[in-house]
Amino acid sequence: MRYEGMIYRPPGEWKSYLLQCTIGCSNNSCTFCSMYKDKQFRVRPLDDILEDIEMARKAYGSKINRVFLCDGDAIIMKQDQLLTILEKLYRTFPHLEKVTTYAGPKSTMTKTPAQLNELREAGLGRAYLGVETGDNELLAKVKKGATAEEILEAALLLKDCGFDLWTMIILGLAGPGAPSCQHAIATAELMNKMVPQHLSALTYMCEPGTPMYRDVQQGTFQLLNPREVLEETRLLLANIHEGPIHFTSNHASNYLSFNDTIPDKTPGMLAKIDSALSGETKIRSEWSRGL
Ligand code: SF4
Repeated sequence: MRYEGMIYRPPGEWKSYLLQCTIGCSNNSCTFCSMYKDKQFRVRPLDDILEDIEMARKAYGSKINRVFLCDGDAIIMKQDQLLTILEKLYRTFPHLEKVTTYAGPKSTMTKTPAQLNELREAGLGRAYLGVETGDNELLAKVKKGATAEEILEAALLLKDCGFDLWTMIILGLAGPGAPSCQHAIATAELMNKMVPQHLSALTYMCEPGTPMYRDVQQGTFQLLNPREVLEETRLLLANIHEGPIHFTSNHASNYLSFNDTIPDKTPGMLAKIDSALSGETKIRSEWSRGL
């Protein structure tokens, strides 16, 4: 119930009680991201977190049925601390159905399969993994702090341990032309190996205060126009053959909204993109886009 700084959550967690377990992000180096730049990463004292759960119980009663552990990367916490938090949450809220968290690739790999299984059995049900791209060159350029191979290893580990894996990628992250194609193809290839249960595509929006914002201002990075974003999305979707993957692009940053299954519904999604490219289907106007 006490929060430090701006709090972020995945769009699907809008109904969840947000429990701040860490402050900031353990990586905090991505050149496109402004989320936690004002925060020095640290784990909150366990007693404060447990006290917050008590405060939430007093404020909301017993009705809470979903909890999201924020800020970035709560999975990095010590195993016994996470288990204590999960045990307290499920004991305090009898209707609790699901606890979810962001899971950075490197932090996930600090856990053994036995530990992840233990967390899963204690009720940590879903992990949100920021993939951004499958292109190693681009991952290094945006300072993601992990390679596509490391991200894949973490993702498969989470899946093997029974987590509902929700991945996120960013359209437009590479800029136009050949880098855009490379980004789309490499990301599709990664998804074919990973086959996450969910894949959300956001569209890159320039965030003041980030290194990429400076690049855009200086003209050394070019944003995609709507047509280029649609073409990149088309190339991505046309090259993901494995599934089922629940695909969404219904975030406010996206020009065209999808909430469908790859590969069964891919032909329909491609047809919708073609229709948008020809001007028949309207896309989100620039002024109504947001993060
Ligand atoms: S994109 Fe994710 S990993 Fe990168 S700095 Fe932002 S919160 Fe941290």
